[in-house]
Amino acid sequence: MVVTRFAPSPTGYLHLGNARTAIFSYLFARHHGGKFILRIEDTDRERSKKEYEESLVEDLRWLGLDWDEFYRQSERFDIYRKYVDQLLEKGYAYPCFCTEEELERERREAELKKIPYRYSGRCRNLTEREVERLKAEGRPYAIRFRVPDGRTVVFEDLIKGKIAINVDDFGDFIIVRSDGTPTYNLVVVIDDALMGVTHVLRGEDHISNTPKQILIYKALGFEPPSFAHLPVILGPDRSKLSKRHGAVSVASYREEGYLPEALFNYLCLLGWTPPSGDREVFLKEELIEIFDLKDVNRSPAVFSVEKLRWMNGVYIREVVSRERLYEAALPFLKEAGYPVEDREYVMKVLELTRDAYETFKEMVIRLRPFFVDEVEIPENLMNPLRDARDVLSEFLKRLEGADLSSPDKVKEFVKGIIRDMNLKPRQVWHPLRVALTGEEEGVGVDILMSVLPKEKLRSRVERVLSCLG
Ligand code: GLU
Repeated sequence: MVVTRFAPSPTGYLHLGNARTAIFSYLFARHHGGKFILRIEDTDRERSKKEYEESLVEDLRWLGLDWDEFYRQSERFDIYRKYVDQLLEKGYAYPCFCTEEELERERREAELKKIPYRYSGRCRNLTEREVERLKAEGRPYAIRFRVPDGRTVVFEDLIKGKIAINVDDFGDFIIVRSDGTPTYNLVVVIDDALMGVTHVLRGEDHISNTPKQILIYKALGFEPPSFAHLPVILGPDRSKLSKRHGAVSVASYREEGYLPEALFNYLCLLGWTPPSGDREVFLKEELIEIFDLKDVNRSPAVFSVEKLRWMNGVYIREVVSRERLYEAALPFLKEAGYPVEDREYVMKVLELTRDAYETFKEMVIRLRPFFVDEVEIPENLMNPLRDARDVLSEFLKRLEGADLSSPDKVKEFVKGIIRDMNLKPRQVWHPLRVALTGEEEGVGVDILMSVLPKEKLRSRVERVLSCLG
């Protein structure tokens, strides 16, 4: 059975790159009818925060992911200790008593000589007696993995192909910090092995860690899983996507009013090419059906917020159901303070204006005239209305008997005024729009007139006329 996992460190908010890793791991597992695990990698006590864990979980759920098992590494220290003992016993690891100052000195020396730093191995060959003595003195110690000399670790990456890395440059690396907490490279191996993970999908920034992990697998007598390192995501300037490029957290896209379905779909296109040619819009179920690692690209993907926005627009206009649109839009309307008690009204407005905005934040602005009691008319738009007093009066005169039950009926009604007053269409539509919305352009005023109660239409126009005097 295929088993994948997503293993975020709760040291920050879920960002787009990690979300894509989670999605690919999820799709791969579901595609194969396998298991998807969420594992919180919180062994770094100083940097891990509960609030980050909570927001990670919330964001993953929001994106539509579900997991079969959930773990927190901070609750598994007893398990790790057992394996550390095993490594110590067999000589694969050793205690290191070097102090921070001593290590710092080594680092500086390497810097002066302009050679890459690696641990000198000073504690590598301490005798058992020396170790006992230092321990008895109460000297704090870390535990290091003994990296074999002159070894090249080779593995077949499912995306990048064959990768060979000489581990001589690594130096013996720390697997347990002096405060007793185990480090990432150790626990990732123990957990992936014990949890039966068959495929490790993660960002390519972890390629350099993989040989260390493979050495630990071997030392513990575990079979390494298959590795699939995903291409990095770049910003528009082709440097690694980061805050400098704007919003990169999943939460900020949720707050901006993106649909999780659209973000999910868009993230899939970052580094994966659908096998079906030009089509780009896929629901989760379809993605589960067609997702395959062989279609994941080796080269970096470029994030484009314009494209994401476009896709969100497609989802709002064409993909999601009325009910889903209502459910997703409602919190934004509420937050804006718009009255939403009349469910039918809200549904109708949303249904008729789906093509007027691409995010829900934008929706709130565009749909203002549909929800506020009165509209403010900016001074510069007031003046031109003076020439249109008679149009507005005519509108009021005819309003009572008008059939405004649909945008088409509204158009007919307005055409009647245009014809009878012998005016150009713009000479009627424009003042009506300004009077009813306070804007010169925006969502179709025919739509607005078809849904807004007549008394509101009347009061808005009357108010303008009385201001004009
Ligand atoms: N906690 C690691 C990270 O967030 C996990 C890497 C891995 O998947 O092995 O980068």
